[in-house]
Amino acid sequence: MEKLKSELKVPPLDNFRPEPGSLPSRDAIPARYKWDLTSICKSWDEWQATYKQLDAAIAAFTSFQGTLARGPERVVAAFKAMDRMGALSYQVWYYASLHYDEDQRDNDINARRQQVQILFAKQQQASSWFNPELLTIPIATVRSWLDGNGDLAVYRFAIESLFHEQEHVLDEHGERLMSLAGRFNSVPYDSYSALTTADVKFPTITLTNGGKVTLTYGQYRALLETNRNQDDRANAYRTFHQTFADNQNTYAALYNGVLQRDWFHARARGYKTTLDAALHGNNIPTSVVENLIAVTKQGVEPLRRYHRLRRRVLGTSTYRLFDVFVPLVEHAARYAYDDVGASIIDSVTPLGSTYQQNVRSAFDGRWIDVFENSGKRSGAYSAPVYGAHPYMLLNYNETLDAVFTLAHEMGHSMHTLLSHQSQPFVYAGYTIFVAEVPSTLNEALFLDLMLERARNRDERIVLLQHAIDSIASTFYTQVMFADYERQAHRLVEEDQPVTADALNAIYSSLLDAYYGDVIDKEDVSRVTWARIPHFFSTPYYVYQYATCFASTARLMQGIRSKDPGEREEAVNRYLNLLRAGGSDYPMNLLSRAGVDLSQPDTVRAVSAELDSLVGRLEAELRV
Ligand SMILES: [Zn+2]
Repeated sequence: MEKLKSELKVPPLDNFRPEPGSLPSRDAIPARYKWDLTSICKSWDEWQATYKQLDAAIAAFTSFQGTLARGPERVVAAFKAMDRMGALSYQVWYYASLHYDEDQRDNDINARRQQVQILFAKQQQASSWFNPELLTIPIATVRSWLDGNGDLAVYRFAIESLFHEQEHVLDEHGERLMSLAGRFNSVPYDSYSALTTADVKFPTITLTNGGKVTLTYGQYRALLETNRNQDDRANAYRTFHQTFADNQNTYAALYNGVLQRDWFHARARGYKTTLDAALHGNNIPTSVVENLIAVTKQGVEPLRRYHRLRRRVLGTSTYRLFDVFVPLVEHAARYAYDDVGASIIDSVTPLGSTYQQNVRSAFDGRWIDVFENSGKRSGAYSAPVYGAHPYMLLNYNETLDAVFTLAHEMGHSMHTLLSHQSQPFVYAGYTIFVAEVPSTLNEALFLDLMLERARNRDERIVLLQHAIDSIASTFYTQVMFADYERQAHRLVEEDQPVTADALNAIYSSLLDAYYGDVIDKEDVSRVTWARIPHFFSTPYYVYQYATCFASTARLMQGIRSKDPGEREEAVNRYLNLLRAGGSDYPMNLLSRAGVDLSQPDTVRAVSAELDSLVGRLEAELRV
């Protein structure tokens, strides 16, 4: 009730558009553009009380220790106690952390946020006995309990996947050695990170107009995306990559550390290859990655067609990797936030009225923190707050990128909403393997609508280039990266030396395989592997962007179908995928939605999509 009254006080016409380049204070922004966190906690007092409840729940949890073997009732009670701790954790964490992101200069809120982190460490300690103790009960016994106890049956997948992981857990002595060796795990990445951020000296270049640019990664990318002078782009590209080339032996030695560590883990735990080890947790067959790599390599023609088209349009005698991001036309449209909301709501019409109503609630119910203000966290995210509704943080700046970011985060939020509504706590979260499906699918729907509504040729060209570039970077480049990681890991699996020359050779052969002769060669490109942080921080991770993208392309074929029956079925299966949250292995969830990632056709859906977009772009450009 109280909330309603305060809403009525808001004047109906408080449209707000920050001046480009200005940074308003948070107070200067009208309330309806700021998220309302009261659905998590009404106040800091309520937060404090919830914090105390969580603290008490953690202390009480130890009473279950040593009792699980007594029977299914104990196991159910322990699982429920964990769910309760989990739900409280979301509440205390997000209330503090979302408030903190509003203005990260606030020390009091930061202190509360850190207080929660300390409590989480305590929680982890207090529950670390649970999995090992459950695993001491023979699986046959646990299965008979699952069959005989309906409350426990809810946890079937959680329990089965725990036993699945157990297949590669060692005996006590082995696990002790592994945990001692674990101290070395982060050394390669920590060193990489120190070398590329803390200790790095970013080079400065002088542009043809006399201006100077210091090439941080952000500045470097911005220059490649906006500077229309090829000499400047060449200078930036060569200088930026030369800093990696100058230290390539050091990077190769660090990367060898990553490869050796991964191979050590795989062998110690009895996996055939490093890829098997990486995919086992999510129960993904290695054939999925093999298929992805092989089929993508066969489907590079639309990518090459796009670059041949770009070369013609740019009209330069050479066309190199530093020419691939420049816009094909100058078109600086601005998208006011108040106009964009309605389009995003319209764009999800194919997903049905309930989905659409949910998207409307996100806009009307203050789930979104829209504009940048001084002290606010940068970037964008969707926060899956269990027990409340999802929240989105944006730094909306009226560019096309910002609009698509909003569509993207909305996809994550709808996934969270449907999953939280449909699943018990234990499966409410979803894995990264499916997470980027709803976000990229929302982007695809939004693109369809924008293209339909585009008023002129330039606008259509900008939209098509946006869509094509995102396929190139989210799909093709990521598959190429996955291919690189697999080949590099094979070096150690086959006892081959890992040197800068060997890694450079893998990378340049991949550039050849993808671009052939449509992009002119540049010597320094071969060291690109050294500047990809994912290779050093999270091996075998990036392929998931590509599998999500392929899944989306496949799902969109059904959602766009001309046949109403087929369309309806595709939409239902898709919404069921969102509702399923983390209740099964990702391959099973996707296959129920009609996506089989081990099939070449699924991967081919992306090159088919790209081919059609490039065809439309060619028609618009008439070259
Ligand atoms: Zn995302």
